[in-house]
Amino acid sequence: MSSRNNGKPVLCEIAYGGQRIPVSLSRGLGDRLSISVHPDQRVTAVAPANRSLEEIARRLRARAGWIARQMQTFEKFVPAPVRRRYVSGETHLYLGRQYRLRVRRADKPRVSFDGRYIRVETHRPRDARHVRQQLTAWYRERAGDVLQRRFVLCSSKMRLSELPGATVSLRLMTRRWGSCTRSGRILLNPELVKAPVQCIDYVIVHELCHLQVLRHDKHFYSLLARYLPDWERRKERLDRIALPPKQTGVNRPRLQQGGTGARRNSNKEHAQI
Ligand SMILES: [Zn+2]
Repeated sequence: MSSRNNGKPVLCEIAYGGQRIPVSLSRGLGDRLSISVHPDQRVTAVAPANRSLEEIARRLRARAGWIARQMQTFEKFVPAPVRRRYVSGETHLYLGRQYRLRVRRADKPRVSFDGRYIRVETHRPRDARHVRQQLTAWYRERAGDVLQRRFVLCSSKMRLSELPGATVSLRLMTRRWGSCTRSGRILLNPELVKAPVQCIDYVIVHELCHLQVLRHDKHFYSLLARYLPDWERRKERLDRIALPPKQTGVNRPRLQQGGTGARRNSNKEHAQI
């Protein structure tokens, strides 16, 4: 869950090693400065409402080295924009692995997966938009199955299965992998089905921990570490996967940012999803 902001963000700049890094700064309800570096190189920060701009600027400058390192990391990881063509031979992610697409003409539209290929049968095999729609529907169906199963498994491992009111549903989000409400409703992004199972579990466990601790404070992270000692490794891996673009064109737009993320995966000063 992300911190809530009051008011509009303001743009400020911090100097570091000869470069000027623009930071979009907003004010929040929390009592600490939270900095996020997003895969598209944007830097955002949420600062306590009662701190002066000078003090925030000073603290941002103190973190400039960390910010620059995160930006470099993303420069390495951010893949070149993928122009999806939805033709045979193209690879698509499923549960953290790339599988080749096989598209062939058939009267009855169908998508199947045999462990090697994702096969799309369609009466319009040359129509990329049409193939994409079929594939998207298939991913969505797989997500419904896989994410529900992982949710049941994770919550029973955490002995939360009898927790009243904890429900899970899917919602396509452009900036988050998951979220939860105070009433225990957990939303998972169906795009998660493209991530490895260990990352899926990380998002689920993260959200389930929020049922006990709402904020990203030290209690939250110690709880998370108790259930998933290697959560940081899992998060790092998830951060390399792009969230769905806002527009659903055939040509996939450049990776922007997102989180268990309106962040698509950001590197936060205190790792949030
Ligand atoms: Zn969270």
